[in-house]
Amino acid sequence: MSRLRIQQLQWIGAVAVIMVCLMMAGSTIAFSLSDYINHKRGVTEFGRFHAALHAAAMIARERGPANSLMGASQEEQPQFAAALKASRDETDKDIAKLETLFRTEINQSPEMRSAFMAVKAQLEFGRQTVDAMVAMPRDERSGAKIAEAIQAMFLAADRAQDYRDVAGRSIIALAPETGAEVMLTSMAGTLRERAGRLGSYVVMMLTSQGQARSHYRIAFDSELNRLFEVNALLKTYAPTTLQSQDVAQLLDQVTVSYFAGSLPYAQRVAFESNSGNAPTPAEFTAKYVPGMKSTEILRELIETTALTSLDRVREKAVKAMLVSASLAGMAIVVVIGLAYTLRRSLFRPMLAAIGQIDEIAAGNLATPPPMPHAGREVREMFQRLDILREQQRFKRHLETERKAMTEELRRLSQTDALTGLLNRRALGEAVGRLFSERKAGFRGFGVIMFDIDHFKLINDRHGHAVGDLALQRTAEILGPCLRPNDLFARYGGEEFIIVLCDVSETSARSTAERLRKTLAQAVINDEHGLMVTASFGVDWRAQCAFEDWEKLTMVADKRLYQAKRNGRNLVCFSDALEEMAIVSAVKSGPAGPGVENAA
Ligand code: GH3
Ligand code: MG
Ligand code: MG
Repeated sequence: MSRLRIQQLQWIGAVAVIMVCLMMAGSTIAFSLSDYINHKRGVTEFGRFHAALHAAAMIARERGPANSLMGASQEEQPQFAAALKASRDETDKDIAKLETLFRTEINQSPEMRSAFMAVKAQLEFGRQTVDAMVAMPRDERSGAKIAEAIQAMFLAADRAQDYRDVAGRSIIALAPETGAEVMLTSMAGTLRERAGRLGSYVVMMLTSQGQARSHYRIAFDSELNRLFEVNALLKTYAPTTLQSQDVAQLLDQVTVSYFAGSLPYAQRVAFESNSGNAPTPAEFTAKYVPGMKSTEILRELIETTALTSLDRVREKAVKAMLVSASLAGMAIVVVIGLAYTLRRSLFRPMLAAIGQIDEIAAGNLATPPPMPHAGREVREMFQRLDILREQQRFKRHLETERKAMTEELRRLSQTDALTGLLNRRALGEAVGRLFSERKAGFRGFGVIMFDIDHFKLINDRHGHAVGDLALQRTAEILGPCLRPNDLFARYGGEEFIIVLCDVSETSARSTAERLRKTLAQAVINDEHGLMVTASFGVDWRAQCAFEDWEKLTMVADKRLYQAKRNGRNLVCFSDALEEMAIVSAVKSGPAGPGVENAA
């Protein structure tokens, strides 16, 4: 398990969340983008459809001035002729535009080509029929002939509607999202066309007689039914599909001004067309056309609204893309921010905390640098670590003190409190160690025991404190005369013992003698001019086992007392009676001052 595992998991999690965000945003953006592209194309395609629709409407509209011209008197003729020419020019412009906009389809699709050619041919034929009629003298123009011309124009309008529908289909195939708009706009165009055609049938009835009139009457009724159907469909679907209050209001307006105005008038005229008080075609047209205008306005409004609705969807798609992108961006920023914050306030401090724990475990109790960005919980952890570090410091301090005290205790347990020399027990241990070390060329052990002469008198005369001082000073004076490896101990009371290691017998004797002299010559206390002497007993062995240690000391002790008996301030190193004289009774130095002073 790596230390970084949680952090790695967190990074992997963050990357996964970012990926999911990107995928979600990507799919939404892709969806919205395709929506945007489709609706953008829809808007363009709908523009082309509008041209087809407009051309069909213009061809239908030509019937108005054509009808008026065919029914006009000699005086009225120039005026209607000019109107017809203007209308035809506009239609021609629309057809030329249509040809440009649909050039590819017309070139590639036989259906489109033949539909387009049919429009042009039928329009040409209708116009020729109208022109032929206009060229006739007024009284030669029969109702039947005028009706023939009008029907030829009807056929041109029918071909234009056919072309509109073929173009509509092609556009829906290219941009299916325009389907509803294309259909509703087509319906509105049909409503306008049928309303116009109804008026034309009334005009035909007015200008014809007998069977022909009945024929137009039937055609009128059939157009009427289709008109109602188209109007009902528009009322049902247009306002909701286009989500337009204006369209709903205009449909009501069409009901009022056309279905409750112009249409009942046309029905009445159609009904009364064979009575004497029927209006002339011009009178009828003048009264019928204004009410019909609302259907034209409706067609235009539905077209505009359809275009706006497509545009709205396109804008919505752009907004959806922006919203998705910004939401994804925000989510990614939040995830990265969270990951960074966790890294800064949790993971890095945690690693630092692990490092600190390792340091504490390794005994490094130095205060580490602060972690300023650590989170609250981690800061609390650092505080606990500080406490732990402080406790460890205290523990270490206690440990040091304990060691020092143990060392002191050990020293005290081995040392004589008054003189600082080894005590008797410690001496035993030290001798045990010394005897166990056997080196090549080892010369032997020397044991010197000495006892201060007439010490009791010092106590009696100067007090115990001075007696203690005499003991301390003896140790101070003689200690430096020995080698580091020699052992010097207080044996009890005012009696001392020295173990000389790796020493010859002669050297042991001379050392004892040197010590005796040194002590005898030293001033113990300046204030009292106190001087002391001591009596020495010496024993030497070339080899000695620890078991013989007691014997060794006993011999030295015995000789010490021999020296006492011989007069004190002497060194005795032999038990032989004849060697008594060898006792260094050379009273060369001053005699034991303790004795003398005491004397
Ligand atoms: P000798 O020359 O025969 O050794 O005579 P002495 O007076 O030195 O020997 P004695 O054994 O009669 O007296 C020893 C005295 O040393 C007895 C005791 O009160 C005294 N003494 C023993 N230990 C201490 C000590 O630690 N401090 C002091 N001040 N006196 C001590
Ligand atoms: Mg004694
Ligand atoms: Mg003594």
